[in-house]
Amino acid sequence: MVADKAADSTKEESMDVLSSTRTVVKNALERLGYPDEVFELLKEPIRMMTVRIPVRMDDGSIKIFTGYRAQHNDAVGPTKGGVRFHPDVTEKEVKALSIWMSLKAGIVDLPYGGGKGGIICDPREMSFRELEGLSRGYVRAISQIVGPNKDIPAPDVFTNSQIMAWMMDEYSRIDEFNSPGFITGKPIVLGGSHGRESATAKGVTICINEAAKKKGIDVKGARVVIQGFGNAGSFLSKFLYDAGAKIVGISDAYGALHDPDGLDIDYLLDRRDSFGTVTKLFNNTISNKELLELDCDILVPAAVENQITEENAHKIKASIVVEAANGPTTLEATKILTERGILLVPDVLSSAGGVTVSYFEWVQNNQGYYWPEEEIAEKLETIMVKSFNAIFNIAQTRRVDMRLAAYMVGVRKMAEAARFRGWV
Ligand code: NAD
Repeated sequence: MVADKAADSTKEESMDVLSSTRTVVKNALERLGYPDEVFELLKEPIRMMTVRIPVRMDDGSIKIFTGYRAQHNDAVGPTKGGVRFHPDVTEKEVKALSIWMSLKAGIVDLPYGGGKGGIICDPREMSFRELEGLSRGYVRAISQIVGPNKDIPAPDVFTNSQIMAWMMDEYSRIDEFNSPGFITGKPIVLGGSHGRESATAKGVTICINEAAKKKGIDVKGARVVIQGFGNAGSFLSKFLYDAGAKIVGISDAYGALHDPDGLDIDYLLDRRDSFGTVTKLFNNTISNKELLELDCDILVPAAVENQITEENAHKIKASIVVEAANGPTTLEATKILTERGILLVPDVLSSAGGVTVSYFEWVQNNQGYYWPEEEIAEKLETIMVKSFNAIFNIAQTRRVDMRLAAYMVGVRKMAEAARFRGWV
């Protein structure tokens, strides 16, 4: 019994994204030679706000939702990061997500710290009107700590450009000024950027191309499995499908589809709903668990956390795993995959395309001058290729896995900024 309990608590700890993030941050800072107080500063967000948001529902009742906004560190500049609408949102998860945003900003060298928000809700069960009330209520509740030069939100799981538009409008009313730079991921007509919607998937595609070169795999004809068919997963499947890859598996929250000869991605994209659901239309589905263990060359978790764990890491057949989702692989699984010679490209690097183009959107809003799509694509490619190769080389020369190498690059800038400011 005692042994069982101990095993359970170790397992729980390994699934705790905040504690595993801290472990790698600490390790990265130690390897870079920073003193303990730097870790003490960076292990928690500098600011964390919990809010209660009353929303009048369609049946006339008032429902109170809980939301969070975490600002990890603003030594480099304003904090930046998405807002997640999901029933499983927790304070710990939002904190971890804000730390990952700081790391991403450091990796792709943006003038930001990390932030993140979340609301405990299920938008799939809410009407358009209720979602608008919740989005506006959230902005009113956090308005004192956010703003174009303080903390800039963006989309994340189950939030989209419409929700960004309501949030921008609410902030602009409070500010008595049109404030497109308050939030990114907006519709183009409200100051959104070309290429923002597909930016995360573009960045992941660039990392897949670079990783494939290192492994001597041709993306054309490669067998790919993608978990999640939302913003990240659906654009990614389209980019790889158009590049000639064979997408042998995709999934959503309800199950997965598998065809060893390759799925018809255009057909599936046509039929998915706005929440990235498509498998409900089919009978011959497999589970998400089975999907991850399918025979393939490239595996991309693009849905939720803790999907590759010590329980299934031995069964992964891909030779490249590229994390489009935040936190899909536990630290134990990272170790197992790396020992097995599988090239694991970590979330803080591979999914940094979203925040990079969000930065481009904010720059365009601040200067009031907008760039064509080709310019965005070119700038993104340059940044992602450079970041991938810098981290790959550190992993090789320092003999560490790609996750630790990415954290070493990611923490350095904020640690240095905090040091110059005299904080540590
Ligand atoms: P989304 O809401 O558009 O799509 C999520 C997808 O995951 C949907 O297909 C949904 O059905 C599926 N899903 C949900 N729960 C699942 C479960 N338990 N098992 C399997 N599938 C499940 O979200 P998104 O924007 O595509 O984000 C996906 C991941 O990518 C998240 O981890 C997010 O933090 C990360 N990410 C997104 C962006 C972005 O710009 N959208 C940027 C960086 C990182």
